[in-house]
Amino acid sequence: MDERADAVVLFGVTGDLAAKKLIPALYELTRRGRLDLPVFGVARSAWDHEHLVRTVRKAVVEAVDVVDEAAFDALAARMTMISGGYDDARTYARLSEALEHTARPLFYLAIPPAVFTDVVGGLKDSGLARRGRVIVEKPFGHDLASAQALAVTLRGAFDPERTFRIDHYLGKEAVEGIAALRFGNRLLEPIWSREHIDNVQITLAEQFGTQGRAGFYDRSGAVRDVLQNHVLQVAALLAMESPAKADELHALRRMRPLTPGSTVFGQYAGYRDEPGVAAGSTTETFVASTLRIDTRRWAGVPFHLRAGKHLAETATEVVVTLRPSAYANATPNLLRLRLGRNDGIGLMLNVKEPGRASRTRPLPLDVDFGAALGRRQEAYERLIDDALDGRQDRFASEETIREEWRIVAPVLDGHQPILPYERGTWGPETPGTLPAGGWHAVGAAGR
Ligand code: NDP
Repeated sequence: MDERADAVVLFGVTGDLAAKKLIPALYELTRRGRLDLPVFGVARSAWDHEHLVRTVRKAVVEAVDVVDEAAFDALAARMTMISGGYDDARTYARLSEALEHTARPLFYLAIPPAVFTDVVGGLKDSGLARRGRVIVEKPFGHDLASAQALAVTLRGAFDPERTFRIDHYLGKEAVEGIAALRFGNRLLEPIWSREHIDNVQITLAEQFGTQGRAGFYDRSGAVRDVLQNHVLQVAALLAMESPAKADELHALRRMRPLTPGSTVFGQYAGYRDEPGVAAGSTTETFVASTLRIDTRRWAGVPFHLRAGKHLAETATEVVVTLRPSAYANATPNLLRLRLGRNDGIGLMLNVKEPGRASRTRPLPLDVDFGAALGRRQEAYERLIDDALDGRQDRFASEETIREEWRIVAPVLDGHQPILPYERGTWGPETPGTLPAGGWHAVGAAGR
């Protein structure tokens, strides 16, 4: 599939994701000359064109420092609002009419799971799905069975090669860069195995809470929200044998299911008082777990994973601990991959302590990618651009998602005790928490 799409249809244009990520991405693509297409916003809200443009303006102003007025005007002039119910055939009739002269529309489903089947059905029944491409957002189901049911619904309307499942972590430059770092550096490639690596820690920490989406969050929790998708994707990129897409899937296939015995769930103080949260909710806002990977490369090396809200810092970071060297008092080398804001890389090296004794002291070598490489495109910008081109390599596949659900299945809705923790900490304090030697400091504290 090589021809570029010739229209964008944004279902859920009135929503949170559209305002925070999708509209700013469409604006950036327009500014860079990559989006010269009609854009249709679809939602139930009865917005007229002015209302749509006002909302688009607000989203852009919040996302960028300085608005490029020519780019904004170009985008606004190409946008059309189509208001109607997601289960109403008239909505799709109006959309068909609007798309009459297009051959390859791209449908972005930025809508809640509750209306997903209606929209896919509407696109199928109206015949639009036959010539369109579709981008779908997580959650891809809430367990293995529902993910498979969702896959069947999608396959019933869209060809798999025209279906794009967003795990926006795959579109982040820093995450994609894991492969370049591993396979592009003779310094790293030979040591990337159990011979030299003691353990790997992956942290996805947010200093903020549910940001007004507590009702949605309460039905998902930290495992479904980020561990099942983003964190496992990062683990697969760290574990894979070669940069081939097939090897990422292969790495996921060799991951053992998580076990309740090596998993800790937490909930921050005050969570149950938030509007939208069920009384006595046992949804986890923090999870820590240890992943095992059954390959020759990783046998015996624990991958410690943790994710949570209202933690001490916002940081997405991998810390790779190397095995200790035998020299003097050398401490284990640490390699840090910062994947979120302030992305970059850090390496703790032992250098000689000044003085007469043969002692060493660890010193950090640190590179900030923003300073070194300049502005990189946002994940959503890159992913929408790819989908417009029909490029699949930065999207999750149906098989990937199936494996991810298999891995987290034993800790979903289990009978994991939920341990309370104070906001602004690193989660619940548990005796003998994993990992054995404790978590390395991450974010600013780890520099
Ligand atoms: P919203 O809750 O903001 O919903 C999007 C739009 O869908 C709303 O503006 C509303 O439009 C319509 N809608 C909402 N609830 C219903 C309902 N019960 N029945 C029918 N229509 C409804 O969703 P988000 O924008 O937050 O998310 C969209 C998708 O993206 C979801 O699948 C979400 O899981 C996913 N996602 C969101 C992220 C985020 O940061 N927001 C991050 C990652 C994924 P109207 O009433 O005008 O039709």
